[in-house]
Amino acid sequence: MDQVALARLGNQSIFEAVSQVVDLVGGIDKYVKKGDLVLIKPNSFILARPETGFITHPEVVLAIAKLCHKRGARVVVGERRRNIFTNFQDYPEINDYAELISFDEAPLKLKTIPGAKALYMSIAIPRIVDECDVFINVPGLRTHALTDMSNGLKNVMGILPDNSTRLVHDLGLTDSIVDLNLARPSDLIVSDAIYSVQGNFPAGGEMIQTNFLMASTNMVAIDVVAATIMGFDPSAVEHINEAAARGLGPATLDEIKVVGSSLDSVRFTPQRADHDYGKYKDRLDITDGAACKGCRQSLASAIAAAAAEIGEEQIRDLRIITGPVETLPAGPRDRVLMYGSCTRRFKDQGTFIPGCPPLAGQGKKFIVKLCGKREEME
Ligand code: SF4
Repeated sequence: MDQVALARLGNQSIFEAVSQVVDLVGGIDKYVKKGDLVLIKPNSFILARPETGFITHPEVVLAIAKLCHKRGARVVVGERRRNIFTNFQDYPEINDYAELISFDEAPLKLKTIPGAKALYMSIAIPRIVDECDVFINVPGLRTHALTDMSNGLKNVMGILPDNSTRLVHDLGLTDSIVDLNLARPSDLIVSDAIYSVQGNFPAGGEMIQTNFLMASTNMVAIDVVAATIMGFDPSAVEHINEAAARGLGPATLDEIKVVGSSLDSVRFTPQRADHDYGKYKDRLDITDGAACKGCRQSLASAIAAAAAEIGEEQIRDLRIITGPVETLPAGPRDRVLMYGSCTRRFKDQGTFIPGCPPLAGQGKKFIVKLCGKREEME
């Protein structure tokens, strides 16, 4: 039975809490041997302070690096973008235990993923991701506009360097997340839920202090427990469901042994991402009959984020078409947004946002722009 360890933060230091949660799943010696090349993959591509919850706390990463270094391993901490260097600026001690790298500048290799459903072509990933002896996945915990929640499985998206994460959004987010976890399964996952994120992330979102850590050797198991802690039904979270269906881990809590702190002691109810644009339907002309959950959630998040930026009253007089449509519904052709790759065939007849589903942040940008354009025309 897969185990997930939970450790509430009390008076102990972050190093002691990380050691405790890793010990609960067997201790670092079980995973790391002298001379191993260990790659630690935090979530640190956004430029942010740890107290925002938008990045894995550098002290959590530092603690894991120390444990691995003490074991005699060569340790590398890698993430896409160069923001990781700035995010660790106040933690120079990391350089005593590990080398920081940006995947954008690392040597790449082409990889084909047996069994991939979306990333079925060769993809370029950092050589070190494929060749490290031990891959330690260190995500943060958050609600997410496109995937309901984000933890271990989704953090692996960050092995794609630079803008190649676009691939995932173009070819299908759910299947791509699972494909990438097939490409490089995590040997150990240590999830930082000291500062978590709630709300409309990544188009918005805010920190909620939750004060615990999680660890497991199975990325599906840890996500099932993380989803449960936040009040989601794990079977309704598409990437968890898909990963379990493809045999990467257990689908339900009944198949997981939780050790350490009790599940009830760390449960919290975060504000969720905006998934309902119903209240805008009298001001926006939305055709969404056949759109699936991904585009609906992305669009809702985009509209909410645009409203937060320019004011609710500005969100009006825009036609939005999302999901597969055979013909364009009749109506004015100015200020039309084709939302998602299913509308590609009509891309010349309005503003087209590709993606399956599109990035909510990109959707927000265009909604702000089109509503702004209306202002100029009035
Ligand atoms: S509606 Fe089309 S583009 Fe949007 S998520 Fe579904 S399949 Fe992808």
